[in-house]
Amino acid sequence: MRVPEPAPALQGVGVSPGVAVGPVASMGGGVPEPPAAGDRPHGDPAAEAEAAAAALEAVAADLEARGERAGGEAGDVLQAQAMMALDPGLAEKVEQATAEGRTAARAVFEAFASYREELAEASEYMAARVADLDDVRDRAVARLLGVPMPGVPDPGHPFVLVARDLAPADTAALDKRTVLAFVTEEGGPTSHTAILARSLGVPAVVGCAGATALADGVRVLVDGGSGEVVPDPAEATAAAALGRAAARRSALAGAPSGPGATADGHRVLLLANVRGPAEVPDALAAGAEGVGLFRTEFLFLDRTRPPAVAEQETAYRQVLDAFPAGAKVVIRTLDAGADKPLAFLTPRDEPNPALGQRGLRAVRLTPEVLAGQLEAVGRAAAASRAEAWVMAPMVATAAEAAWFRDQARRQRIAMAGVMVEVPAAALLAEAVLAEADFASIGTNDLAQYTYAADRQLSGLAAFQDPWQPALLALVARVGEAGRSLGKPVGVCGEAAGDPLLALVLAGLGVTSLSMAPAALAEVRLLLARHTLEDCRRLAAIALAARDADTARAQVREAAPAAAELGL
Ligand code: PEP
Ligand code: MG
Repeated sequence: MRVPEPAPALQGVGVSPGVAVGPVASMGGGVPEPPAAGDRPHGDPAAEAEAAAAALEAVAADLEARGERAGGEAGDVLQAQAMMALDPGLAEKVEQATAEGRTAARAVFEAFASYREELAEASEYMAARVADLDDVRDRAVARLLGVPMPGVPDPGHPFVLVARDLAPADTAALDKRTVLAFVTEEGGPTSHTAILARSLGVPAVVGCAGATALADGVRVLVDGGSGEVVPDPAEATAAAALGRAAARRSALAGAPSGPGATADGHRVLLLANVRGPAEVPDALAAGAEGVGLFRTEFLFLDRTRPPAVAEQETAYRQVLDAFPAGAKVVIRTLDAGADKPLAFLTPRDEPNPALGQRGLRAVRLTPEVLAGQLEAVGRAAAASRAEAWVMAPMVATAAEAAWFRDQARRQRIAMAGVMVEVPAAALLAEAVLAEADFASIGTNDLAQYTYAADRQLSGLAAFQDPWQPALLALVARVGEAGRSLGKPVGVCGEAAGDPLLALVLAGLGVTSLSMAPAALAEVRLLLARHTLEDCRRLAAIALAARDADTARAQVREAAPAAAELGL
């Protein structure tokens, strides 16, 4: 008998370390519009009506079961969706459409369209629910057409999520108890899929050609360090990989905790990147001294209008109140546009959205959105012991920095800074920083704009390497400006979570490093093993290297504790 060849391993870019083994579940794509009557032979209207009703009932039962499993706010949304599927008014419209000769799928599609209109007109609250209604429609239509369900799969057991790419809105509610790992065909090391995986602390591989051809249910081994994805791994291979990952975790568990500092006591604040209050417990558990980047756009995604000031204030307070008196929490104002479009803010027709109205530029066109956000921060700050700092994304000029600081001062916010993500701001860092209270370098976008390389494109991943000397030269410029003006300069892009690079950044004058909580232990450990003088020496080596790989290799070689820690 011929033994079937094992499927070949796939290779992508490992962007979130760790190893996982589990069954594949694929992200559903868009559900097609069912053909209008006439494109297909008509069925028996009674049978079509029955099929439509059965699909809606099955969707409701599924949503209800998921609602019970999820509990809390997410559970309430799912229960409300189940009720939409069973609404008698909707059932009536479906029956009418089948009686007129529509197929079950088309009848459901059309019934939802008119139901949607009524809902949108009923009240503001209901208008905000149309996205939930569309999701119920897509589920019923998918069932009737026999195509995969849209969105994040829910197979009822832990799984490896495989997708072409993941949009921030798709993934906002992902649960790390069920998602064992991510594998995507697209995306680079600083794409939102990669950032999300690191913030959840799950292994991830992006830019993995052939991933979407993996069938649901196939067991895969995902190595988020090496970028290898092995279908049907042998037991021994899987056990060895899991063992290596466990050993690394336990070595780090014994690492020092407490504030970040070099071996000779030079302080480097170690902060966490979070997307909202739900991620704060992980940050605290990892010993974050505060928050260096609160990505507030996650409160706004999937909305038809900005959340109310009171709702924002609650979210900001929850994060602030989790930290002790004096800890800093840097709240980034809305960074919409490009890879994070917002229906009510982002122009739909820009040819190059990454070079368009995004970040601070977008809110300057809708100043009431920024004013509401700053008001919410101001109120939360006044009631909290921790310090609320605000910073604006995508600042390019000193005038923009001054405008933003002025807006923040109107809400009595004491610390208003800029993200340095556009090369222009880095090149004239002194002038920009003169108009701001601090700077935080967003190396993800700064790399994208320095190398003119879209951070979402897996084929350009090499340009996103934060060890690139041109990127480090810009960081050095900002560090220098901070030193001469006596103002804090942090790094909150993904570069900050690379332990070896963290040494270089400290040597370039960076005063805080903000990263996914899972990266804090290793960065803290490596910093504590090197003096500030070591860091400066390593920074000079990296700056003088001719390319990213050389910089990394030479710094690894020259960092006294790197080999000892297996880096
Ligand atoms: C960055 O660009 O480095 C950054 C931290 O912002 P984001 O990744 O959210 O664009
Ligand atoms: Mg950015």
